[in-house]
Amino acid sequence: MFVISVILSIIVLHHDECNSHSMAAPVVPLPPPKALIEKGRNAKFTNSKHRMAVLVPYRDRFEELMEFVPYMHSFLSNQYVNHNIFILNQVDQYRFNRASLINAGFQLTKNNHDYIAMHDVDLLPMNTNLSYAYPENPVHLAAPTLHPRYHYEKFIGGILLINKEHFELVNGLSNKYWGWGLEDDEFYVRLKDAHLNITRPQNITTGTSDTFRHIHGTQRKRDTVKCYNQREVTRRRDRNTGLHDVKFEVASYKNMEIEGAPFTVINIHLYCNLTTTPWCDCKQQKSASNKQLQPHGKLPKAK
Ligand code: UDP
Ligand code: MN
Repeated sequence: MFVISVILSIIVLHHDECNSHSMAAPVVPLPPPKALIEKGRNAKFTNSKHRMAVLVPYRDRFEELMEFVPYMHSFLSNQYVNHNIFILNQVDQYRFNRASLINAGFQLTKNNHDYIAMHDVDLLPMNTNLSYAYPENPVHLAAPTLHPRYHYEKFIGGILLINKEHFELVNGLSNKYWGWGLEDDEFYVRLKDAHLNITRPQNITTGTSDTFRHIHGTQRKRDTVKCYNQREVTRRRDRNTGLHDVKFEVASYKNMEIEGAPFTVINIHLYCNLTTTPWCDCKQQKSASNKQLQPHGKLPKAK
């Protein structure tokens, strides 16, 4: 019965009456999650000094979510980490934007938390020595020597802990990355430009095959399409956009539990500036070029 109600709620969460280009969406203005957080969730950790917001960019990953929430809640509880899990569910019609979702999640939770974990929903820590404690400096947990798939030195994706002051210092992540990839590499440059010292887990004896479980099913295709001038623009460091100018609206907050593990779904409509980042919707370009192929508005001859 409970599983059914979770399924139903997720279906409802995905229901989206917004048309892709106007933001005259029926968004419900609700209070920020403070009231929800203060209810005494994780009460057993009230002595711990710092509180972490686990920010999970999310869309259409139901099976992964079912595993992630109970697993992470007990993993973090075993470490006595005072935490709240936020599923940042992108409900607009644009391509997925992991970075903007994290910026939005930070804005919504920063008053109640001291640091964030930017966390993929499909990456589960298996080694209990991976510490989610307060990061004095940014801590890249999914290090290239530990991540099952990405092994280049500048890789910073997957799971990253960063404190509030440092995230604000670098102006969060770029908002220009719609679709899969590169937003984490750009964030690496932001941290370096700010002379932040990125640390990675020490004294871990497990390796790339047994430190994390990457529950990325083969049916999960990565959205690697490039349209307009996306390729050129997203290759460069973005000095303009970030935490301060992320545009979004919260459709609703939903407090939920999976197998007793509490979490909050935040349904988020991202705005896209179609002039500066038209690649948030590659279908537009496709249909524009299809029209150009039509012979001067004449209809094709009937057979
Ligand atoms: N994600 C999502 N829905 C999508 C695409 C991405 O929820 O359609 C989130 C999810 O948290 C995922 C993360 O973004 O773990 C990174 O995407 P993905 O797993 O595709 O990238 P990988 O790191 O496996 O290349
Ligand atoms: Mn993945």
